[in-house]
Amino acid sequence: MRLVLLGPPGAGKGTQSARLVAKYAIPQLSTGDMLRAAVQARTPIGLEAKAIMDSGALVPDDVVVGIIGQRIKEKDAAKGFILDGFPRTVAQARALDELLDKEGLRLDAVIELSVDENALLARMEKRVAETLASGGSVRADDNPQSFKTRLEAYRTQTAPVSSYYAGKGELKQVDGMETVDAVTAAIDHALGG
Ligand code: AMP
Repeated sequence: MRLVLLGPPGAGKGTQSARLVAKYAIPQLSTGDMLRAAVQARTPIGLEAKAIMDSGALVPDDVVVGIIGQRIKEKDAAKGFILDGFPRTVAQARALDELLDKEGLRLDAVIELSVDENALLARMEKRVAETLASGGSVRADDNPQSFKTRLEAYRTQTAPVSSYYAGKGELKQVDGMETVDAVTAAIDHALGG
C-alpha cells in the first residue's frame, strides 16, 4: 500500500498515519520528522533547514525530494509506505511521480483530510498545552506566528497539490473534523476496507 496523506497543519495526518502504520505494517515517512532529526543531528541539511522550518516556510523542493528519493528505496519501504507531509508542492508531486515511475511503482491512494481552518490554531494550541503538561518539548514552529506562515504556505503552495491529484483521478477526500475514530473509519472506507 502506497499512500499520500494530505491536509493542513493540525489536520490529524500524524495521528491517522500512526494508525495506518499499525494496520498495514508499512512505515510512515514524514519529511517533517526527517528534517527535525537532521536539525537535531546538525547535518548540513539540518543546518540549512532550521531557520526556514522555524519560520513556518517550506524548505526547498530539491532538499525534500532528495530525502524522500533515498528513503523510499530503503528495505522497510519495499512493501509500501505512508507519505505524511510530502508532497507539499506540485513540483514535489511531479518529482514523486518520476521517482515512482523509475521503480515501476505507483500510488494506491491520495487521501486529503479536509478541515475547517478556523479550528486549526486551537488544535495546535491544545497540542502545545498537552505536550507541556506531559513534560515534553514543544516544536519551535508551534507558535502563532509560525503557524500563520505554515497555513499560508499550505494555502498557496500545497492546496494546488490536491488539484493535481484530483486531475489524475487519484484524490479521495475525508472529513477531518470528525472524531479520530470516525476519520480512521472514513479512511478505511476510502481505501476500500
Ligand atoms: P511537518 O512536521 O510536516 O509539519 O513539517 C514541519 C516543517 O518542515 C514544515 O513547516 C516545513 O518547513 C518543513 N517541511 C516538511 N515537509 C516538507 C516538504 N515536503 N516540503 C517543504 N518543506 C517541508
